[in-house]
Amino acid sequence: MRFVDAHIHLSDQEYNGKVETIIEDAQKSNVIALVSNSMNYESSMLCLQLAEQNPGLVYAALGIHPWNIQFLSPNELEQTLDLIFKQGYCREKVVAIGEVGLDFSYGKKQIADLQIKVFNEMLRAAERQFLPVIVHCRRTAPEIISILPSFNVKKVLFHWFSGPVELLPKIVENRYYVSEGPLSVYSSGTREIIKLVPLNSLLTETDGPVCFGGPFYGKMTTPSFIPQVVEAVAEIKGMKETDVAGQILQNFTEFFGVNLF
Ligand SMILES: [Zn+2]
Repeated sequence: MRFVDAHIHLSDQEYNGKVETIIEDAQKSNVIALVSNSMNYESSMLCLQLAEQNPGLVYAALGIHPWNIQFLSPNELEQTLDLIFKQGYCREKVVAIGEVGLDFSYGKKQIADLQIKVFNEMLRAAERQFLPVIVHCRRTAPEIISILPSFNVKKVLFHWFSGPVELLPKIVENRYYVSEGPLSVYSSGTREIIKLVPLNSLLTETDGPVCFGGPFYGKMTTPSFIPQVVEAVAEIKGMKETDVAGQILQNFTEFFGVNLF
C-alpha cells in the first residue's frame, strides 16, 4: 500500500533540523507524496526549497495563513503573490495555494477584514495560476463556501474539516475535497465526518507538527501516522485498507494533478 500526506508544514520551526528524518520516516512508511503548506512569505520560500530538494516526494503549497495576517510585513502580500506568479506554473514543485482561508478566532475586526482581503487575493492567484486551493476553515466553512463562487476555482480542499456537517452535501456537490488526519483514529466527531464524506472526496493529512492524543500522544507528528489514518477510514467505511489507500492515492493525483502511478 502507498499513502499520501496532503497537508503538513515541513517548514515549521518545530521541524527544524528534523526534516531529513521525517522524509526518511515517510519513505519507510510508504508515504510517497507530501504537500508542504506555507504560513507566510518566508515559509513559502522554504517549502519551495524543500520541493526542489526532494523532487517527486515533497510538493509545495504557497500562501499566507490567516493566523499570520496580523504579523504581515508591509510588502509581504505582494512578495508572496509575486512568488506564486513566478513559481506557480512549475507543477513539479508547486501544486496548490495553501494554507489560506479564514479564522476569526484570531485578532479583532480589522484583522478579520484583512483576512478576507488576503484570502480573496489568494483565490485570485489560484484562479490565475490554475492551482487548487487548500483552505483553513476552522469555524469559517460557511463564509468560505459563500466566497468561493466569485472565483473560477474548482479544486478546493477543506483541510481538517470539523463541521458544520450540514455543509458536507454542498462540499461534495461542488466536487470539493475534505482531508482528515490522526483524529480519525480516536475522535468521534472526525469519524462521523468520515462516515458522511464519500471516499472519492477524501484525502489524508497529518497537519504536522500539530500534536495529537490517543495512540499518538507524546509523539512527534510525522507522515508515518498516515497508515493508521487509512486503517481508521477503512474501518469506518467497512472497506479493505488496500481499496481505501488506492482510492485516496487516486484522489490525490486528481486533486493536485500529480502523477504518482
Ligand atoms: Zn495546517
